[in-house]
Amino acid sequence: MSVEQYSFSILSFKDCPAQKTPEKVIELLRAWRKAHPFADKCSVCKTFLPLIPYTLCCGHFYYNNKFKTYPVQSFAVHTPKYAFELPILKRLKTQAKLKMDQDFLVIPDPIFWQVVSTLVYKKIMKFVQGLPITSWTQTFQSPSKVGLFYKQILETPLNYGSLQRRSCGKSTLIRQVAFGKRCILSMRGMIVPDASLRPNQIQLLAHVVKKFNIQNQWIILNRMPSL
Ligand SMILES: [Zn+2]
Repeated sequence: MSVEQYSFSILSFKDCPAQKTPEKVIELLRAWRKAHPFADKCSVCKTFLPLIPYTLCCGHFYYNNKFKTYPVQSFAVHTPKYAFELPILKRLKTQAKLKMDQDFLVIPDPIFWQVVSTLVYKKIMKFVQGLPITSWTQTFQSPSKVGLFYKQILETPLNYGSLQRRSCGKSTLIRQVAFGKRCILSMRGMIVPDASLRPNQIQLLAHVVKKFNIQNQWIILNRMPSL
């Protein structure tokens, strides 16, 4: 027996119960990071929140504490012309001459978010709008960088692991945000051995000293003990 024909059934944007625009997602992300208490009433305008698992009111993010259990939900964000997929799938589709454009992205329920995931989603929402990723660097990412962002979505930690899993590894708040290079006058470099140095002595390259203008100044050097 051989298969003559394949048919693909793919969810369309209209089929998704919760739909959002990238602008709405950024608002949701900001409100989530600001405050996300359990409540049935808004703390600012005192109105009762609608009977849905989570909602936004007066720039705050609220879980509704009337819910004993939450249905697992996701929402779809419209991302026209940006197909978030694995490069292998893209290649296979081209080989098979399949014309399928995925014009939306499914993002998990905010109940499972962590700060790191909200930062990743915000970056992606700015990317699909053609806005600079951070106000700090003002760099624009070209649409060809979609594979890079897809990888980031896949690696984004969600709030359902153990507490230990949430605090260990590269994709945690500490490693990604607190220790991430996000300040001026900081750099990372490769270290190499030098027999002329004393123990506990590190020599910096002359051009590094010149570039950062740190001649005769105190600096902080961090060398991982495993190196
Ligand atoms: Zn309100």
